[in-house]
Amino acid sequence: MVGRVMPQNGCVTADAPRPPLSPQTVVVKAGRPPHEPDQPLNHPLVMASTYVAGGDREYGRYANPTWGAFEEAVGELEGGRAISFASGMAAVSTLLDLVTPGETVVAARHCYQGTLVQLSSLEQRGLVKVVLVDIDDTEQVIAALGDDVALLWVESPTNPALEVADIPALCEAAHAAGVRVVVDNTFATPLLQRPLESGADVVVHSGTKYIAGHSDAVIGLVVTADDEIYRAVDEKRRTMGALPGTLEAWLALRGLRTLHLRVERAQANAAELVRRLAEHPAVDRVRYPGFGGILAIEIAGGADRADAVSGHTRLWVHATSLGGVESSLERRRRWKSESPSIPEGLLRLSVGIEDVDDLWSDLSQALDHAVLG
Ligand SMILES: *Cc1c(COP(=O)(O)O)cnc(C)c1O
Repeated sequence: MVGRVMPQNGCVTADAPRPPLSPQTVVVKAGRPPHEPDQPLNHPLVMASTYVAGGDREYGRYANPTWGAFEEAVGELEGGRAISFASGMAAVSTLLDLVTPGETVVAARHCYQGTLVQLSSLEQRGLVKVVLVDIDDTEQVIAALGDDVALLWVESPTNPALEVADIPALCEAAHAAGVRVVVDNTFATPLLQRPLESGADVVVHSGTKYIAGHSDAVIGLVVTADDEIYRAVDEKRRTMGALPGTLEAWLALRGLRTLHLRVERAQANAAELVRRLAEHPAVDRVRYPGFGGILAIEIAGGADRADAVSGHTRLWVHATSLGGVESSLERRRRWKSESPSIPEGLLRLSVGIEDVDDLWSDLSQALDHAVLG
């Protein structure tokens, strides 16, 4: 057991079979300094704009040991090498900047609204063509993979429609058509879904959400097992300069240490709330993919009634973003950039790790209020 957890400390001979660590262990173990006398257990926060010449780091825009530790941990979890960014959108924009002008991107109609805005601005400037598809309709997606398509942009589950894509089938069809696949894995986290293992070329994360997990840091990641893509993305980060803050990387790595506990609890709470919400007369429809801590409810009566719900919770915070320890909710169409096919009365719920009965009693009194008017 010791050898399993500490392969680098010499307890295990090089040729002894070494079963891979469970992801539950990797979140705790990966990205640590070596087990040597006087080494700290955690990577310190290294504030540096430059390094003594002659090594690999050279300059603060190219590398930082604190980002390095965070990237090592997330890379190990996803089964690739990670590059961290200033935000999830910095990661998304950097990837989209790698598409050759004139090529087509096929993307999930209900992917994150920031991604949609970025795609449409690239399209308006004539840089890419964009085809939007229902990502849970595998045949429709595959039919869209024509000759000029360079990239398939998958998000699963989608934000906030919560559609689930058949990632292995899409990757197989895309690769047969010579199309690269990116999966935004923000909602599922690498504990519930590892797209690189299902054939995806690249994973992108808003680390702001579950990975950092405490609503106190904005950060993003690209992860890939393809050396050529890794080099291209790293080069883009160096030149575009959308670097993560060092403190943010440190906070996100600290948050990552409890990812499995937070996701397990949020998921258990979400599943229980889904059962209770389905019975409530104010709720027309509950959307839940069957895993994870995000769900959406459609409120009978549309925008005004849904606003009444988000305006009457005390424990649930009315706020955008998701994946924090605290439960929050938001009517997504309050954003003009949200897809018009998202219902006006849809509330996205990010279920936290509080006591589920407390969460229900607060939510149900707000829903009662919406019914009674
Ligand atoms: C929040 C989010 C993003 C953008 O990430 P930021 O860290 O806010 O820039 C991208 N994709 C999904 C699915 C998200 O939820």
